[in-house]
Amino acid sequence: MKAVRGRLLSFDDDPAVAGESHRYLEDGLLVLEDGTIKQIGEATDLLPGLPRDLAIDDYRDHLVMAGFIDPHIHYSQTQVIASYGAQLLDWLNTYAFVEEQKFADPAHGARIAEFFLDEALRNGTTTAAVYCTVHPASVEALFTASHARNMRMIAGKLLMDRGAPDGLLDTAQAGYDESKALIASWHGRGRQHYAVTPRFALTSTEAQLEAAGALLAEHEGVYLQTHLSENPREAEAVAALFPDDESYTAVYDRFGLLGPHSLFGHCIHLADSERTRLSESGSVAVFCPTSNLFIGSGLFDRDRARDQRFPLRIALATDVGGGTSYSMLQTAGAAYKVLQLQGQTLAPLQAFYDITLGNARSLDLDRHIGALVPGREADLVVLDARATPAMAHRMETVEGDLAEELFVLMTLGDDRAVRATYVAGERLHSRAKTS
Ligand SMILES: [Zn+2]
Repeated sequence: MKAVRGRLLSFDDDPAVAGESHRYLEDGLLVLEDGTIKQIGEATDLLPGLPRDLAIDDYRDHLVMAGFIDPHIHYSQTQVIASYGAQLLDWLNTYAFVEEQKFADPAHGARIAEFFLDEALRNGTTTAAVYCTVHPASVEALFTASHARNMRMIAGKLLMDRGAPDGLLDTAQAGYDESKALIASWHGRGRQHYAVTPRFALTSTEAQLEAAGALLAEHEGVYLQTHLSENPREAEAVAALFPDDESYTAVYDRFGLLGPHSLFGHCIHLADSERTRLSESGSVAVFCPTSNLFIGSGLFDRDRARDQRFPLRIALATDVGGGTSYSMLQTAGAAYKVLQLQGQTLAPLQAFYDITLGNARSLDLDRHIGALVPGREADLVVLDARATPAMAHRMETVEGDLAEELFVLMTLGDDRAVRATYVAGERLHSRAKTS
């Protein structure tokens, strides 16, 4: 048993729906045992009942929250991030497809998986939905490293049987067989979950999309992750390749890929009929603001995604390597800017709900993670809003206003603002105080 003392912030519900939805304890204590949260309360209330020699990590100046969740990221693109000058289809051909071929070597995958998880933890991210490459060994590498750290992860092997270099192609049958074997090995092992992962409609034949639908139907609880309507040229290419389908979404729908465990990256250029089907099926639209700006794809319209005629479940993600930061703080800051460009906004409490409990709900993992509640897994992030000279300087004018502090964090903060990250009660990342 151990404890973490700090300024505890947790969400009970979506501020957009429930209004007052967070709990904040100025001097709070979390008691951790067996990887989960055992107790939460005011430190002065709990301490008298706890053993005198209880180990306490003292972060009384800092905010302690549930670990951040990144519901769309490519671990194979840690050396693609910051690649210049191309929109989606050229970017894939010029950069992503070149790097992904290196994962044919299992040693490369193992090295990158360790880097990726280190970087996630440095940024306070404790759970992610991860695209691996077409190579099964790339999935083995990620799950092996994640399982060793006891991180809760969703990941899957890319399914691609056309539209990419030969070294990145499988076949409908091989992709099915390899995915099935990976599901058997990893889905439900420790904290690992499998996602059936057709990259997008342009790189899978109908036979492969049908196989993806079969994998979903045959394995209860597995996820589906793919890309949908990111870029106008991509959408045109899909329309040309699938002339009999009414829309891009209709292609996935025809093969049974929509549903409450289905994560669709981007969803920028959608017709109302597509929104209706995504809404009816409970599918999740994943907003990736730094990626959408960097690749020039477009602006995610959050108000439209919430339109009561066809409300979508929404998640917020980095999409590295199209995205430009591993930080969910930076991602929330970019989301704010994308919405500002459209006359919309992202209130700071809403943003921090989104990257914790909101994303946990979108991944159907909120019974495990996303909030500081007894019985939930003890995945935590400790945040320092004075981590850099510029942040400390700005914070001089913030007088006890929690929302304003959160807004400083999501605007100026990044990995430097993450003092510590806990996974299942273990502190796996710690950073010395810098200012
Ligand atoms: Zn992506």
